[in-house]
Amino acid sequence: MAATPTADVPTTMTPLRFALSKGRIFDDTLPLLESIGLVPAEHPSTSRKLRIPSTDGRVEFLIVRASDVPTYVQHGGAELGVVGKDVLSEHGGEGLLEPLDLGIATCRLMVAGPADVAPSELPARPRIATKFPASARKHFAASGRQVELVKLYGSMELAPLVGLADLIVDVVDTGSTLKANGLEPIELIAKISARLVVNRAAMKVRHAELSDIVSQLDAVCTPSA
Ligand code: AMP
Repeated sequence: MAATPTADVPTTMTPLRFALSKGRIFDDTLPLLESIGLVPAEHPSTSRKLRIPSTDGRVEFLIVRASDVPTYVQHGGAELGVVGKDVLSEHGGEGLLEPLDLGIATCRLMVAGPADVAPSELPARPRIATKFPASARKHFAASGRQVELVKLYGSMELAPLVGLADLIVDVVDTGSTLKANGLEPIELIAKISARLVVNRAAMKVRHAELSDIVSQLDAVCTPSA
């Protein structure tokens, strides 16, 4: 006789695809995941695999670039993921639910510039180097300031040192990278932490499994202040 499904057994046995990036997000998310029983069968730092199942088979972790997490989840390549608010704001969040602030991988999105240049010495339309042009544009537009944006993919701190930009917009944690390069923080744009994101359509179709994970993570995380 066929077993009667119970409320605890998902109607589909396909694992949920969970997009994560290597590095700080993975390292900070891992303890939270482990505390709710989601343990990767291999660690991405020692494995070249980009699809790593959890030991309980509930999810399959997809190892993607941090900036690609929202795209995977938006288009249904993954049902859920963890992404920094900096990356999420830059993406725009279309097609995504953001049910949880996980309170991990915290930092600040800031405007920074050379410590030896006074604001009055800046050009009327300063050039801003950043990996976050949408967030930077929105920030300066909100106070009616004209800027020219230069999109970079890393090492933003270098740009003012070689005359590529007057200022930078970047994520800052301790501030030691800024200091080591003769820069200082000028303005806070936003406090950043990692967020759980869920595909909007998947939340309807696989509601029980996804809301289980959301409520389990909610119970173990501490949202940032
Ligand atoms: P710090 O020297 O501690 O201010 O760290 C700054 C550098 O670390 C920046 O160049 C950032 O790219 C990176 N960083 C710091 N915090 C985060 C974070 N939460 N997420 C991603 N990158 C970060």
